[in-house]
Amino acid sequence: MSRSKILLIYTGGTIGMVQNIQTGALENCDFGTLVSCIPELALTSAEITSVSFRKPIDSSDMDPAAWSEIVHIISDNYEEYDGFVVLHGTDTMAFTASALSFMLEGLNKPVILTGSQIPLQSIRTDGKENLITAIEIAAAKDENGHPVVPEVCIYFHEKLMRGNRSSKVSASNLSAFVSSNYPLLAQTGTEISFHTEYIRSYDPSRVFKPHFLMEPSIVIFSLFPGIRQDIVESILRNESVKGVIFRTFGSGNAPQRKWLVDALSDAVKMGKVIVNITQCATGSVEMNKYETGLQLLEAGVISGRDITVEASITKLMFLLGHGIPQKEAMRRMSIPIAGEMS
Ligand code: ASP
Repeated sequence: MSRSKILLIYTGGTIGMVQNIQTGALENCDFGTLVSCIPELALTSAEITSVSFRKPIDSSDMDPAAWSEIVHIISDNYEEYDGFVVLHGTDTMAFTASALSFMLEGLNKPVILTGSQIPLQSIRTDGKENLITAIEIAAAKDENGHPVVPEVCIYFHEKLMRGNRSSKVSASNLSAFVSSNYPLLAQTGTEISFHTEYIRSYDPSRVFKPHFLMEPSIVIFSLFPGIRQDIVESILRNESVKGVIFRTFGSGNAPQRKWLVDALSDAVKMGKVIVNITQCATGSVEMNKYETGLQLLEAGVISGRDITVEASITKLMFLLGHGIPQKEAMRRMSIPIAGEMS
């Protein structure tokens, strides 16, 4: 079998940062400097070409325009490459992975995001293993010559996760990401063990269709005991807000306050899409389990089931960005469209 052709896309992040001698803070460096830290790239099983953002960024600066730039790079090179590895800061990697899973409709090739907690230039870097293994995963083919992982994933510290099921959970551990509500797609040790039963299968009938539009007029609004009526109402009545990711307690519960239910139901009548997701790290929203959840269902709030906050916000940005009417956006928010919910 011929060597897989992999396009390495450098967007920035700690992996490629160097310390500013004056301030001590980490700053982005250019891609050439980064590649010179990893001569082992020449030894992987892939033929690698690289491309870099003109100005690499800390991932706190990621936004829909940068997502769209990544989608452009992938779609412009889609036919020519067997897979893509995106080097990205860890802070918002799960948002980008989720966004790409919706923006790259019909994807049939691996798009693996990775980065590191320690820069490549530091001797204890975790970036080398993350990058080299991400390339091996993107290059992996089955006995028919098809990609083993034709979906958007995050590879980080021995774990391959579905991108839109992942979240960053540690600012310091090398194992910084989890996939709380979906099994790992692969685990690495001395070998790379793929869990093929959980990986989306290759399907030649899928038609690749890149999307570039995202609607950012959305808010994530998290409940806490004692939340104030005037503040909640100012968000829900705001004309500019088109969608709300509503982070509730446990299995999708909220305080039984008439003003809250009225404000939610008025917001739905105003045309907003309100999605109930849980503040818990694992488990799912079930609004008909308790009265405190049922009142939300009756107000027109829809269930995001076990979706992550990163996937819910990017999915809503994606649906509203394509001008999908409220009722249809609500329907699609309650069903999986890219494997993002169970
Ligand atoms: N602040 C960095 C970023 O997200 C952190 C990292 O890459 O680990 O770009």
